[in-house]
Amino acid sequence: MAVLDRLFDQAKTMRAIQITDDHKIAVIEAPVPRLGSGEILVRPRACGICGTDLHILHHGFPGTCYPVTPGHEFAGHVVAVGEDVRGVREGDFVAVDPNVVCGQCRWCKAGRPNLCIHLTPIGVGRAGATAEYVAVPAKNAFAVNERIGAGVAALIEPLACAIHAVETAGRLRDRRVLVLGGGTMGMLIALAALKKGAGDVTLADPVEGKRLTAKAVGVTHAVDPARLDGERFDVVFEAAGVMAALRQALTLVEKTGTLVQVGVHDEDATVPVNPFKVYEQEITIVGSNSLADKFSAAVDLMPDLQAEAARLIGEPFSVWDFAAAVDSMAKGHAIKTQLIFD
Ligand SMILES: [Zn+2]
Ligand SMILES: [Zn+2]
Repeated sequence: MAVLDRLFDQAKTMRAIQITDDHKIAVIEAPVPRLGSGEILVRPRACGICGTDLHILHHGFPGTCYPVTPGHEFAGHVVAVGEDVRGVREGDFVAVDPNVVCGQCRWCKAGRPNLCIHLTPIGVGRAGATAEYVAVPAKNAFAVNERIGAGVAALIEPLACAIHAVETAGRLRDRRVLVLGGGTMGMLIALAALKKGAGDVTLADPVEGKRLTAKAVGVTHAVDPARLDGERFDVVFEAAGVMAALRQALTLVEKTGTLVQVGVHDEDATVPVNPFKVYEQEITIVGSNSLADKFSAAVDLMPDLQAEAARLIGEPFSVWDFAAAVDSMAKGHAIKTQLIFD
């Protein structure tokens, strides 16, 4: 506890970003988090911004506890450990699984922690990493070799979501795979699919720059979605999160194929489905929500993908320029917008 004692001696408060339920962003002085049993204090080094953060800011995201300090894709140094912490030490460099779960409910016991009825994600239901310090359960922290870089380590969380999506799709070998959407999730799904045995992966995005990046990181084909009409794929990942992509996805699934819904749509959005086609062609439509229990798989896979992952990251912003970073992300300046810390 030595470092924590020093923290409280020197500065009992820290700077943090706060989002209020009336869509405002502020830099606030907040207490340095007190550690509960089993918790550690992390000093973030890099934190990604994703669509979830935009939902939290602009629309209200289900489960958000306002006012909230966002930030759920992050890596940093352990600066203090609370009581009853084993396996994590001060000085460790860690990536953090943001999904804090109860471990007791039916879904946790079934190995589906992403569906936990008491799910409290860091940066959504409790304070996140856009702050000088963040308290997290030690069991959510995974030691990572610092040499992969803080930005790449902060991409382990979305990579875990991508692995969950790929495993949800089932067998990929000898199947034609399509990913709709060339954002971070689409790119990481395409890369994870190739690592998990897919031989032929097409990524479709209307933005030429994203198609060029997809080719540069080794995706087999990168096309404009307008040119897909008439094609069929055995596995289609809808990772664009826009209705036009979902409508198109439903037309692109081959007989016995699978559509994996990864993009996050509005809660009340609906789309017409042709039930005769689903029946006649034995099509599977399945959702993939967050990262389930795939965080450690992503920790293991990331060293093989670090060069490709690094190419997805744009010029970073200071965490204290959060509003400018969100604006840049919304405008699509980079595939992945990240924050760095002083
Ligand atoms: Zn995210
Ligand atoms: Zn649970």
